[in-house]
Formats: sequence, structure tokens, C-alpha cells
Amino acid sequence: MFDQARIKLTLWYTVIIMAISLSFSLVVYKIQMQEIDRFARLERIRVERRIPGVGVFMPFPEPDLELLTEARNRILSALGIVNLGILVLATASGYLLSGRTLQPIKDMVDEQNRFVGDASHELRTPLTSLKSAIEVFLRDKKSTLSDSKKLAQESLAEINKMQSLSDAMLQLAQFQKPSRRARKEKISLKNLIMGATAKMDPVAKSKNIKIETDIPEITITGDEFELPDVFVILLDNAIKYSKSGGKISIKADSNEKFAIVRISDEGIGIEEKDLPHIFERFYRADSARTKTDAGGYGLGLAIAQKIVLDNNGKIEVESKPGNGTTFSVSLQKAG
Ligand code: ADP
Repeated sequence: MFDQARIKLTLWYTVIIMAISLSFSLVVYKIQMQEIDRFARLERIRVERRIPGVGVFMPFPEPDLELLTEARNRILSALGIVNLGILVLATASGYLLSGRTLQPIKDMVDEQNRFVGDASHELRTPLTSLKSAIEVFLRDKKSTLSDSKKLAQESLAEINKMQSLSDAMLQLAQFQKPSRRARKEKISLKNLIMGATAKMDPVAKSKNIKIETDIPEITITGDEFELPDVFVILLDNAIKYSKSGGKISIKADSNEKFAIVRISDEGIGIEEKDLPHIFERFYRADSARTKTDAGGYGLGLAIAQKIVLDNNGKIEVESKPGNGTTFSVSLQKAG
């Protein structure tokens, strides 16, 4: 599809350039021919003046027709060569230019296709287990009321998982809209972090995890509706990948331009081979799948990174397997 569009666009570029070039050539040709006629006329007058009596007793000397035809042919072939050159150049540069024009569209389409592929792959697992559980239940003629209640509960759990997956995908799709612009407002970093902590505290408490905060008053610039999600996602992960009874700390300091928030946990950590990939969509480290029962789809960090980058910030990670993980988020200070 991309190649076809590229060829079509190249053809359009070439047709437009050639139309302009041929029109110019026509004008140049007409002017040149007029000039030649004028020159022939002048030459005739010059010859008349040199031969006294010409024009009275002798017919006008006719312009050299052969010379005129040769001049016209030379002009025509020069214009032909120039146009041929322009045709070759226009086609080559049109092909290059159309490739460049279409590249962002191609990237977007590729990205969308990958997204749809990944999403349907992720949805297939809960759908398959839901389908087979229902099929088994229907085949079993001796199923009781408690069996049906169990099936309903299991189905509800799968449906909840799919719902959270579709919510996360929708959120990510929203953030990836090219027209989206993050707002630039002055926000109190302390309020931002305390809001996210308050939201996640009940989840932490359910796992007997303590969240400690040490945030000085710093005013940052960013989108006050989007940025809380970053800290909710990071705290959610810190809780998910920590053992019960653990501790999570959130500290912040600042340099000249940025406020830096560090969220550290004492959880399972991330292996070095996984570190370069954890911000990729749908990426989950093996340890997250095997060592914990934390459900997830590998979308949280992709969303967090997108928000931070859109707010001109930076997100980094340091981790030692078994020793915990620290995520650092740098956000622009208000000027
Ligand atoms: P998920 O829903 O799987 O948590 P994320 O995108 O939030 O998706 O995280 C991607 C992967 O990064 C996780 O599956 C996990 O392997 C790893 N990860 C993220 N945060 C932590 C953390 N605090 N401790 C250990 N591993 C983490």
C-alpha cells in the first residue's frame, strides 16, 4: 500500500513539475522564435541599406530559411534536453520527497497495526479461558448451583481483567493522538504526589506496605490532570512487585531546571536484560509473571513514559533483582 501511494505521489509531483516546465519551455520557445523573426527583419533592412536601389529595382532578399529552421531545431532540441533532464530530476526527487512525506503516515499505520495485533493477542487469552470454562460447564450434565456460582465468579474476574485491559488501551490510544497537547500549568509537586499516594494508600495497606513520603515544596510546570496518573502507575507497580510488609519511599529534590521524584521499593527488582524493554507496550518481565500473582498487561509504564515525555520530562529506572527498584521522574520546574 505504501509503495503504491509513493508511486502515485511521485507521478503527481512529476506531472505538476513537468506541466510547469513545459509551459515555461513553450513561452521560451515563442520568445526565441519572435526574436529570430525580429533578427531576420533587421538583417533584411540592413542588407537593403547596404545595396542602394534594393527595394526599388530588386526584390527583398529572403531570409536564409535553412538557417532559420536550423536555429528553430536547435532551440527545440535544447528545450527537449532541458525538459528531459527536469523529468529525470523531478521523478527522482519526487520519489525521495514522497517517501519522506509518507514516512510519518507509514509509521503511524505500522504502529496502529502493531497495537491492534498486540491488543487482540492480549484479549485472546482471557477470552479463550472464559470460553472453555463455559463450554466445560455446559457439557457437564451434573453441574450444581454452586458450580454455576463458581463459574460466574471466575467469569466476572476474567471480565474485570478485560475491562482493565481495554481501559488501559483506550488511555494509551488517547495519549498517542497526534493532535494531543499536554497543558502547561503551575502545579505543586507536593500536592501532586500526596494526591497519588492517598489514592494508592488503601491498596498498599491491604498488602501491609508502608508508603513514606518526603517532598519539599516545589512548583512544577505540567498537566495537572495527566501527571497524577504517572505516580499512580509507579506506586501501583511498587506495591504489586513488593512482598507484603515492605516499604515504599517517595523522595523529591530539585536542580536548576528540574524537580526529580524518586519512588523506591524493596520488591522483586528487574533483571538487567529486561530493563531496556519495560517501557515498551505489553512488555512484562518473566519475573513479574512467575514470581508474583500480580496481573498486568505491560501497559502501565508505556502510559507513564508517554505522559512524562509529553510534559517535557524524563523517566528512568534503576534496579537490582531481589533488592528493589527505583524509578526517577524529572519534571520541569516552573520558571
Ligand atoms: P504491568 O501491568 O505488567 O505492571 P507495566 O508496564 O507497569 O506493566 O510494567 C512493565 C513491567 O516492568 C512489569 O511487568 C514488571 O516486569 C516490570 N516492573 C515495573 N515496575 C516494577 C517494579 N516496581 N518492580 C519490579 N518490576 C517492575
